[in-house]
Amino acid sequence: MTTNDIRKAFLAFFEKNGHKVVESAPLIPANDPTLLFTNAGMVPFKDCFLGTDKRSYTRATSSQRCVRAGGKHNDLENVGYTARHHTFFEMLGNFSFGDYSKKEAIGYCWELLTDVFKLPKEKLWVTVYAEDDEAYDIWAKDIGFPEDRISRIGDNKGERYASDNFWAMGDTGPCGPCSEVFYDHGEHIWGGPPGTPEEDGDRYIEIWNLVFMQYNRHKDGTMEPLPKPSVDTGMGLERISAILQGVHSNYEIDTFQYLIKQTADLLNVKDSDNKSLRVIADHIRSCCFLILDGIVPSNEGRGYVLRRITRRAIRHGHQLGAKGNFFSKLVQAMVDIMGEAYPALKEQQSIIEGVLAKEEDAFAKTLDKGMQILEADISDIKNKTISGETVFKLYDTYGFPQDLTADIAREKGLEIDWDGFEKAMEEQRQRARASSNFGVDYNDSLTLEEKSEFTGYDYLSQQVKVVKLLKD
Ligand code: ATP
Ligand code: MG
Ligand code: MG
Ligand code: MG
Repeated sequence: MTTNDIRKAFLAFFEKNGHKVVESAPLIPANDPTLLFTNAGMVPFKDCFLGTDKRSYTRATSSQRCVRAGGKHNDLENVGYTARHHTFFEMLGNFSFGDYSKKEAIGYCWELLTDVFKLPKEKLWVTVYAEDDEAYDIWAKDIGFPEDRISRIGDNKGERYASDNFWAMGDTGPCGPCSEVFYDHGEHIWGGPPGTPEEDGDRYIEIWNLVFMQYNRHKDGTMEPLPKPSVDTGMGLERISAILQGVHSNYEIDTFQYLIKQTADLLNVKDSDNKSLRVIADHIRSCCFLILDGIVPSNEGRGYVLRRITRRAIRHGHQLGAKGNFFSKLVQAMVDIMGEAYPALKEQQSIIEGVLAKEEDAFAKTLDKGMQILEADISDIKNKTISGETVFKLYDTYGFPQDLTADIAREKGLEIDWDGFEKAMEEQRQRARASSNFGVDYNDSLTLEEKSEFTGYDYLSQQVKVVKLLKD
């Protein structure tokens, strides 16, 4: 099954079961200044869970485009390193707005995975929220799922390597306990079952999260019960595709193999098993869709996230020997492989290419020089730490977002003196204040503040902005 077939099969299954098929919303959440990007399938339905948006249906299904590259859910650092994380991915979901609850949600999940997709049952593992006896009993008694493969997991506050079975979109908003399904890719891959310290390996990969939406969390942390308990589920299209296409890593599925092959051909790289190729293939997807949804590279907020991703991809291309623009040329590959599912990609192709080419031109001017400075700094480095001043100079003068420098440091096994960087940054702020030079925004904190100018999604005016920028 191709990724396109799998998307269709998922939506058709839920449509047959009374769900309204809803088209993917844009990546800019409408009327939600608390959220950087749409990071889950439930985001466009947030108000349906809260009971303030009433629709003509109480069951929905979608394949929602998502970006996790900033804010509460940020997987940028994982890209290139894990088999399962992207900055851009599609989340398949089914939703109940006060209609059905846990029993039906788990039942549909089981039926789709084992009857329709025919996954081997013995490779599946399940988690439930520690206190959720109801969900536990549905799995153990109604489904007959072996209890030695069900783990109870708490909310693991602050633990980096543990599942978190209390799902929240952000710091506020609808949330609730969840139950997740994992797939065991086999003992030749490192990793442990969910709930163990080794779970963050890529052997047991989480495929589907069933969230039982029960609360609305407020700013002060209080949890108000929702008018009607609801269901929100999310399954990564690329992760289920990997399983159904008989491969381990998401980067081995049809979509990614095509993008990787096109990149390798363009850059004349022989070995396609290459981290930089994976990073570029990932980043061209998020960049295309972010631009499609009206974002352009800039020095703040969402635009800065796009700039960071673009420049990271460009740096990886140059590491592979790219001379001149290459990233914008990959838009064609995206149109080839994702244009059927997203016709807007083709319609906006030249705009997307133009925005990326402009960013490549801008960064090309400083990338080589910045790299030389960094290499020189690294060659006489003493304590395996890149100085904060260097990181700042690269940022300030050569347009290297700090995570780009951190990416290079990680590849070389080096640390960064972040305190030194902060100090240099603060000194710059002082100087800027003193000379009232407001030209550059040095506050690149990626959480949007509520006073943000952005008032929601306005596709047309965003497009106008993109076109204007191209003319500049
Ligand atoms: P993980 O623990 O693997 O990082 P998650 O628990 O953060 O995943 P959820 O927030 O539960 O993920 O999202 C629901 C589903 O979306 C996941 O089960 C997974 O299939 C998919 N998913 C989440 N993050 C990504 C990503 N960065 N790239 C691809 N798919 C993802
Ligand atoms: Mg995650
Ligand atoms: Mg998880
Ligand atoms: Mg999860």
